[in-house]
Amino acid sequence: MADAEKVIIIGSGPAAWTAAIYAARANLEPLVFEGAITEENSTAGTLPLGQLNLTTEVENYPGFPAGNLEAYLDDAIDADIRAMMSPHAKEGVSGPELMQLMRQQAKNFGTRVITEDVVSVDFGRHPFQLTASDEKTYAALAVIVATGARANYLGLPSEAAFKNRGVSACAVCDGALPRFRNRPLVVIGGGDSAVEEADYLSKFASTVYMIHRRDELRASKIMAQRALDNPKIEVLWSRTLTEVLGDEAAGVTGVRLASTKGEADLEKEASGVFLAIGHTPNTAFLGGQLELTEKKYVRWTRPGRTETSVEGVFASGDVADDYYRQAVTAAGTGCMAALDAERWLAAKGFH
Ligand code: NAP
Repeated sequence: MADAEKVIIIGSGPAAWTAAIYAARANLEPLVFEGAITEENSTAGTLPLGQLNLTTEVENYPGFPAGNLEAYLDDAIDADIRAMMSPHAKEGVSGPELMQLMRQQAKNFGTRVITEDVVSVDFGRHPFQLTASDEKTYAALAVIVATGARANYLGLPSEAAFKNRGVSACAVCDGALPRFRNRPLVVIGGGDSAVEEADYLSKFASTVYMIHRRDELRASKIMAQRALDNPKIEVLWSRTLTEVLGDEAAGVTGVRLASTKGEADLEKEASGVFLAIGHTPNTAFLGGQLELTEKKYVRWTRPGRTETSVEGVFASGDVADDYYRQAVTAAGTGCMAALDAERWLAAKGFH
């Protein structure tokens, strides 16, 4: 095993790259495990570059107003990676472009990147030990966990086929796109997120169908009432999505719904299907060595800080945040984690 790294960052979304940018500029020479490119990660939605790499336009990340970024992208990103990216044909920035820009920015300051998963950790001794999918073990004085969360999907083949072409798990990210304007849209779920998404989408859609598998919403009373009072939201009770309908040219055109009460199937025209059936944080590899919340997110142990239950291990982004879940908030806590790690290393005399 080589000498201990000052800081290892696990993850490759906005939290991880922001942590890397700050850590690199503080001379911590960060090593990032960005995740492995495997079939398994592809199916689970946990490939490198995270959830943003699975979306299209990003219109709410400050600093990227509408405008043609083509020349900037060509200049800012390594030519070999740029050649593999989709052509930049639109205004503004896309999720994959934003992630490549952040990754490049981290590399420009000397960040080293390993395209492997961390599969297990030993936080019981210091330096911490991390085992990667290349079967090597790495040692680190400080660790930043930024492995994010993945949206839950139903697992239907038609749902996978239309991801990014009408199927989304984030209304705030995608809802305002032109393809959804003044069109009927579908939200799956009956919790607070589903209500929030439906309410948000109702600003753009002609009608929002909320599809819930029971005859009572799980959402809090006040949120449930908001859905029921909204004239543009129609709840279709005791229904489940069995197929997303669509074609190559148009993307999503409708949904087929089964009844959980033995009624006949129902088809509805729709241009978009938004899943709001919860998220799963990517914390299994931690093997129970960090304190987690009931929903298995990493628990921040000090208000306003990124510390975890293990001294020297910090967490940032969606892996510890099931509430805001935005690129900009993940980037913000990534910055905080790097500053917290730097201060901790200095206080311990490691740096
Ligand atoms: P949630 O409360 O767990 O609700 C998930 C919903 O998806 C439930 O209605 C559930 O149905 C449904 N569902 C789950 N798996 C399904 C499947 N396979 N097929 C069909 N439906 C399925 O998750 P959430 O709404 O994302 O909320 C997460 C947490 O964040 C909650 O604590 C919530 O209060 C909070 N939150 C708060 C706000 C707010 O206050 N503004 C906004 C968003 C989220 P069942 O009801 O039948 O189980």
